[in-house]
Amino acid sequence: MLTVIALSDLLSARRSFSGTVGLVPTMGYLHEGHLSLIRRAKQECDHVVVSIFVNPTQFGPKEDLSKYPRDLDRDLTLIESLGADLVWAPTAEIMYPQGYQTWVEVEAITRPLEGAMRPGHFRGVTTVVAKLFNGVQPHRAYFGQKDAQQAAVIRQMTRDLNFPIEIVICPIVREPDGLALSSRNVYLDAEQRKAATVLYRSLSAAKNAYEDGEHDAEKLRQIMKDVLTSEPLAQMQYVSCADYDTLEELETVTGKTLLSMAVFMGKTRLIDNFVLG
Ligand code: AMP
Repeated sequence: MLTVIALSDLLSARRSFSGTVGLVPTMGYLHEGHLSLIRRAKQECDHVVVSIFVNPTQFGPKEDLSKYPRDLDRDLTLIESLGADLVWAPTAEIMYPQGYQTWVEVEAITRPLEGAMRPGHFRGVTTVVAKLFNGVQPHRAYFGQKDAQQAAVIRQMTRDLNFPIEIVICPIVREPDGLALSSRNVYLDAEQRKAATVLYRSLSAAKNAYEDGEHDAEKLRQIMKDVLTSEPLAQMQYVSCADYDTLEELETVTGKTLLSMAVFMGKTRLIDNFVLG
């Protein structure tokens, strides 16, 4: 497996590939969620490229950029063990050299949910993903349903900008107790870790109610809120019951629907979601 940093080295490695190329973009500190994307790419593509880049432009000024967990050596060992061909781990100076001034902005679908809570976040995400796409030139790119709005935004950008890339969205990998795997889970202390199952419990309660015939979206939102507020360590930021494609809040659940939420456990912000229908 080759690890490259410079764009020129990435481009020359890319030229040596024949057949299909799959890209798995990550911010590193890999867990089973990331590894599931790499395994899927390995099954479906002749070559697999993993990018590792903690993208500063998608973090707000009060977010955890400087303390975001990193362990490149461990990541490279894991990626190599799965049989990936190439890792691109550029520096911030390579991605955003002095004088950098071009941004990719997707409009309506970036406004609610994460976009409302994290101004500028998706502008950073779409810009870096466009740069990863142009550098790696993959046939397929693999993202997790864990970041449901990000997946929707990337699909939109790919369509809108004519990237000839198939976007593959992979299911959420969870701990046995339901907590969605996240690099940020390492911030949780033992008590918060226990309490963090409240996201899964809250989503499950709404899903059960839906399956029992409750299709009033406001009632489903209220069910999620009630479970979240029953956990004293959890601070709800939002709950949503929205159209899966547009992410607009629903009154009634009819088609494919995204239940999603963001919750603070102490200073750690956790997100999770279920898809209905
Ligand atoms: P990140 O390193 O957090 O930017 O995540 C890189 C990719 O892994 C994104 O497409 C995430 O949606 C995906 N991912 C993160 N956590 C999980 C998970 N628990 N299950 C599946 N995919 C995940």
